[in-house]
Amino acid sequence: MCGIVAYIGHREAYPILIKGLKRLEYRGYDSAGIALLNGNLNIYKCKGKVADLENIVAGKNITGSLGMGHTRWATHGEPNDTNSHPHISQSGDIAIIHNGIIENYATLKEELSQRGHEFTSDTDTEVLAHLIEDIKNNTHTSLEEAVRLALHEVIGAYAIVIISKNDPTKLIGARKGSPLVVGIGDNEYFMASDATPIIEYTRNVTYLNDGEIAFIKDGKLSIKTIQNVEKTPYIEKLEMNLETIEKGGYEHFMLKEIHEQPRSIYDSLRGRFDPINCTFAMRSLKEFETKIKNLKRIIIVGCGTSWHAGLVGEYLFEDIARIPVEVEYASEFRYRNPVINEDDLVIAISQSGETADTLAAIELAKEKGATIFGLCNVVGSSIPRASHAGAYTHAGPEIGVASTKAFTAQVAVLTLWAFGFAHLRGKASKQDLRNAFAELEAIPAKVEKTLEREAQIIEIAKLFSETNNALYLGRGYGFPVALEGALKLKEISYIHAEGYPAAEMKHGPIALIDEAMPVVVIATKSSIYEKVISNIQEVKARKGKIIAIVTEGDNKVRKMADYVIEIPETKEYLEPLVATIPLQLLSYYVAIQRGCNVDQPRNLAKSVTVE
Ligand code: GLU
Repeated sequence: MCGIVAYIGHREAYPILIKGLKRLEYRGYDSAGIALLNGNLNIYKCKGKVADLENIVAGKNITGSLGMGHTRWATHGEPNDTNSHPHISQSGDIAIIHNGIIENYATLKEELSQRGHEFTSDTDTEVLAHLIEDIKNNTHTSLEEAVRLALHEVIGAYAIVIISKNDPTKLIGARKGSPLVVGIGDNEYFMASDATPIIEYTRNVTYLNDGEIAFIKDGKLSIKTIQNVEKTPYIEKLEMNLETIEKGGYEHFMLKEIHEQPRSIYDSLRGRFDPINCTFAMRSLKEFETKIKNLKRIIIVGCGTSWHAGLVGEYLFEDIARIPVEVEYASEFRYRNPVINEDDLVIAISQSGETADTLAAIELAKEKGATIFGLCNVVGSSIPRASHAGAYTHAGPEIGVASTKAFTAQVAVLTLWAFGFAHLRGKASKQDLRNAFAELEAIPAKVEKTLEREAQIIEIAKLFSETNNALYLGRGYGFPVALEGALKLKEISYIHAEGYPAAEMKHGPIALIDEAMPVVVIATKSSIYEKVISNIQEVKARKGKIIAIVTEGDNKVRKMADYVIEIPETKEYLEPLVATIPLQLLSYYVAIQRGCNVDQPRNLAKSVTVE
């Protein structure tokens, strides 16, 4: 969850670390800290944002060309100055930053306490710094070996970086379950949770695999497993560019990313279907043709917004390819002894590709013999690497904590798969594919047109910014959209919102409706349009305020609703791609009205790398 950045080389580390932390702040932002080595080991850390850290280092010694920085998303111990990272060992010589959870920290802490170690924080992380030093002193070994031996004793997930006052030419990083990238420059090295702090300095990176430790010593990089097996670093070239990870004139990353959707949907479709020859350029469809033809069931796993994309996926695969689908919360799936067979396909959806529960769910499914497709945005991340095949959403880096463009990109790729699967199983002809693709290709322009409703949405948002509750209703393809709209509102404006199947409302939530309750209804022209209209009547009869998302030119709903937001007409199965857009904007502007920090909502983190 947290952000890690480290540097060793010939430049001053501080500016690189601070800039890097700002880029990583989306990952966690309840505290920030930095360690710099310059003969002394200087550590500055505090509760709050990176900007608070900058304030406290003012006037302090920030020299040193070896250092590391951390933005925290607390799991063990409340966010305060003491619990902030870096943490140090008993002697104060070894410093560590950590992303993840050391599950057996209490046992280790108890053992170390009995040997005289004293701890200052409540974190699991501090225990690891003490453990490394304890091993180093007791076995008279090098720092590298002490780290390796310590990791043998650790249960849990981590990305860690370690520096030591006594080893000023060494930088050590390791990962298991949380990401760590090593950047290789000219006589300089970087480590970070993702490539965004590195890209400015070098394009050469190597992604550590689980159970690997990277040692930078005297200007050289070597990689070893915890089992002491040497590995040759696999160097990759980064493709992303700097502009795509900066705000580009928008006030917030979230708003920028909402506006990027015509492009990100287009990029996620581009080059994947050739309408002339009617062929797909997707490795998953080619190499797994027989598997797809014979599979009995699809299980989609994900969390949060990715789970909502999965729900759209269920409707698509069942509707278009006639394959039974189950959509599972990854965190539940993995712990409830699910029935998984060899002729099941598991599709794992995660923007970051690092979501701990989703990763664990696919490991379980793999053990049971299922085939795994990953659907992720971050190239080279853990889920794609753990999958048999899959597809990337080419949405570009998503920095806003509330996911927007990743969702629509995921739905776009799921639509391609649904048609690809349908074709392989004889449920869609070549002409069906061509027609569907033509409709899909028209989506970016329809999204663009929907974004033009922004001014109207700002006005509606002003009226609802004081509300404490909201209900989102939809049916069919509109139901996952309602869920996603409600989640967006909760995440960034802290208004309690519930997404509900419109017809289910009368089995409970209808009791909540009064004149103060805004009800957002997806009421586009679909096969269940008339049914949704009846549900709107039910709300109106109880004086609820209706904000309806309708198809351009609609007159019927307009007469009943308090506010309507029009979206261009499209095929029913493509509606989530368009109808979600006004709901993202609505949440954004309600949150702005309420003075919320939309890019860094309280308690949340972008990539949930803890269980
Ligand atoms: N478990 C550690 C803590 O609570 C690290 C959390 C993180 O990933 O930021 O400090």
